[in-house]
Amino acid sequence: MKVAVIGAGIVGVTTAYELAADGPEVTVFERHGSVAEETSFANAGVVAPGYVTPWAAPGMQSKVLRHLVSRHAPVRISWPLSAAEMRWILQWRRACEPATFRANRERMQRLAFYSRERLHWLTDSLQLEYDRSRGYLVLLRSDKDQRLEQPSLQVLRDAGVAFHEIDAATARAVEPALNPDTPFVGAVHLPDDEAANCRQFAILLKRAAMEAGAQFEFDTSVQPLNPASPAALVVRKGDEAPRQQAFHAVVVCGGMSSTQLLRPLGLRVPLAPVWGYSISAPIREPLNAPRSALMDERYKVAITRLGRRVRVAGSAELGGDPLRKRKSSIDTLYKVLHDWFPGAAQLSNSCTAVQEWKGARPMLPDGPPVLGATGIPGVWVNLGHGSSGWALACGSARVVADLMSGHAPLLDIEGLGMERLLA
Ligand SMILES: Cc1cc2nc3c(=O)[nH]c(=O)nc-3n(C[C@H](O)[C@H](O)[C@H](O)COP(=O)(O)OP(=O)(O)OC[C@H]3O[C@@H](n4cnc5c(N)ncnc54)[C@H](O)[C@@H]3O)c2cc1C
Repeated sequence: MKVAVIGAGIVGVTTAYELAADGPEVTVFERHGSVAEETSFANAGVVAPGYVTPWAAPGMQSKVLRHLVSRHAPVRISWPLSAAEMRWILQWRRACEPATFRANRERMQRLAFYSRERLHWLTDSLQLEYDRSRGYLVLLRSDKDQRLEQPSLQVLRDAGVAFHEIDAATARAVEPALNPDTPFVGAVHLPDDEAANCRQFAILLKRAAMEAGAQFEFDTSVQPLNPASPAALVVRKGDEAPRQQAFHAVVVCGGMSSTQLLRPLGLRVPLAPVWGYSISAPIREPLNAPRSALMDERYKVAITRLGRRVRVAGSAELGGDPLRKRKSSIDTLYKVLHDWFPGAAQLSNSCTAVQEWKGARPMLPDGPPVLGATGIPGVWVNLGHGSSGWALACGSARVVADLMSGHAPLLDIEGLGMERLLA
């Protein structure tokens, strides 16, 4: 059986590996010259299943409105929005309803725990070595932050996640380089969570997929699928003339572009790009740097140790010019890094060493991704992983590979299929 995978972000690469390991002849098409060049490029790298949750949550609407006027807002809207973005907001508002939120959170967490297991299994069995660090610390600056954290802690308890509520002194023992001049009331420590370099993992897993027989066609873009023969792809490599290549099945893992790829088939996939930013810089002095991953809960900014680099990531922005990096959002990342780990990173006198990045989270309005068959023969999807694509990728890929080979996935996949979008 010949299978095409469209897209070589973390979702496409994991899908290609799982399929190739099962036996089909896999060809991956990627318009860039390498894997993980779009949203999977420089994300925060956090894998914390207990914190994987939909952004469509009760109370989120008023939070977003409150943040619209604050200087270091974690959430921003840039007007005007497109008609598709306005429709997305209406769907998102409906999904904030408590029962819908609870169902979607349960679906996402189920997938996230399974995915972490699969990530560890792949790492161990394929002996993949990439930058990773164990432990996750959620920093709470004030009593108010601590109060607001309580519902999340109940979710962790319900999910059986190991965590400790600790005071500031204990948090400083976990992360000794935390700035002594920045006051905070305490933290939540999750010793089993982790941060890891998503792009490095994708590069290594691509090699493993190739060893299992997968072929990667880079610098090759796929045109939107043709309803007359959806698995006969029209592909174009660089400046060459477009050519047709037929497959028995195609899996769309195109991140934000999946909507466009599927539209001619009459499948409306309401993805919105929720933009975020990261800065990555070499560590100047390891003793001043974080040991693992932290989240500043007030600013929703993650700081992660990735080998000899520190990465700071955050902000959620709807609308605006995709090519423009918003200065105030980047400034917030520098501020949070400076608040907690001044002197950790080599920032000055080395502008070229600091990587400032903007990426689009491919976000469905209600939260969970969509995995599996589309109802159109030969067309499968693995898309819409939003703010948690790294944490969800390995499990999502295994589920799709199981479904395609006719095996029952090990995970209960209720609510993770295309029918959710059509309901
Ligand atoms: C600031 C920020 C921080 C984040 N932090 C985290 C985190 O800590 N933990 C976490 O789990 N997630 C995080 N995420 C989310 C995560 O990065 C994404 O969910 C994930 O990368 C999505 O992967 P993907 O493979 O679906 O998309 P992408 O990585 O965008 O891959 C899609 C690929 O498809 C290719 N493609 C599309 N259309 C075509 C076509 N027609 N022809 C050929 N190729 C095509 C694209 O070129 C691209 O390479 C973060 C995101 C951002 C922006």
